[in-house]
Amino acid sequence: MISLVLSLILLIAYGWGSAPVHAQSVDIDSLYSAYESHLKTFPGTAATLIENSQWQSDQVALIRNMAQAEFSLFLSSNQKPTLLDRMIDPLDHAEFNEALNAVALDDSIQYLKQSPSSDAVTFLADFIHLRTNQTFAFNLVQSSDFLNSQMPAGYVRGEHMVLMKYDELDRNSWLAIFIHELCHYLDQKLTNAVNDGIVLQNEKPDVTKELVGIGQKYNQGVTISPDEAALVDRWISLALERGMMAEIRAWTRTYALYLDLRSENLIGPVKWADEILSQKVTSESMSDFCKRYFDALYAHPTDGMWTYPYLKNRLETIRSEKLKE
Ligand SMILES: [Zn+2]
Repeated sequence: MISLVLSLILLIAYGWGSAPVHAQSVDIDSLYSAYESHLKTFPGTAATLIENSQWQSDQVALIRNMAQAEFSLFLSSNQKPTLLDRMIDPLDHAEFNEALNAVALDDSIQYLKQSPSSDAVTFLADFIHLRTNQTFAFNLVQSSDFLNSQMPAGYVRGEHMVLMKYDELDRNSWLAIFIHELCHYLDQKLTNAVNDGIVLQNEKPDVTKELVGIGQKYNQGVTISPDEAALVDRWISLALERGMMAEIRAWTRTYALYLDLRSENLIGPVKWADEILSQKVTSESMSDFCKRYFDALYAHPTDGMWTYPYLKNRLETIRSEKLKE
């Protein structure tokens, strides 16, 4: 059982309940030892139901404390003891994972609340507001089981789900990428494009076949009807809004916020972000920079359906129009 004194010591040591702002000397090993010792005190079948259930809730409290301590340590000093690997019992492993998941989201939000910048204040207010109206899922994943992706995180469009590789990210990259993925969640244009894409897919399950048909028709010198032209433009526009334009909007907001946090010393240098931002011209707005950067980064597709001149030309025209918006 966790005594009241121990609970108080834990509370004072980690400042739980408040933002994990300052570096704290968290003794992860002694927390883990307390958990191990508690394991040995399992009352067992001879004990009463109440005794067993008390033991169980103390066990859960110890596991949650460890998750809280681990993430506080990570955010305050970039140390990651990965206690998860040491949880041998599958139920404890799952409990720890779930606790770390919840604490990683809440503490990252709390951490960002320290920033007085208007970008940060608006970002957090938008998130807190949207989360009350729209589903949101946040999951830590292991590098090995994340969609075989090279990316350190992802936003599952349509499911409003953020996935982050906790085991792969250092603290500063964690914060930058956390902001970026939440920016996708806040992007109403992205949500609309995803929803409109589902409507289009339901209306026309074979839409890509239809588009290829239109491309072939044009090649044969047959006039494209206004409905066909509208379908091509609608499909291309939705694809760009879900892809390149969504990245431009999210990175514009992410980089602005990153620079604020850098100037406030709330985040340390992130090498890849600084390398990208070094290409920004001072007179250029963040939005114009991101448009230029992503336009250069994303090659114009030339394979598959894009070999048809009508489709390829419409893509290029709509893309350049969107980049001027
Ligand atoms: Zn993104």
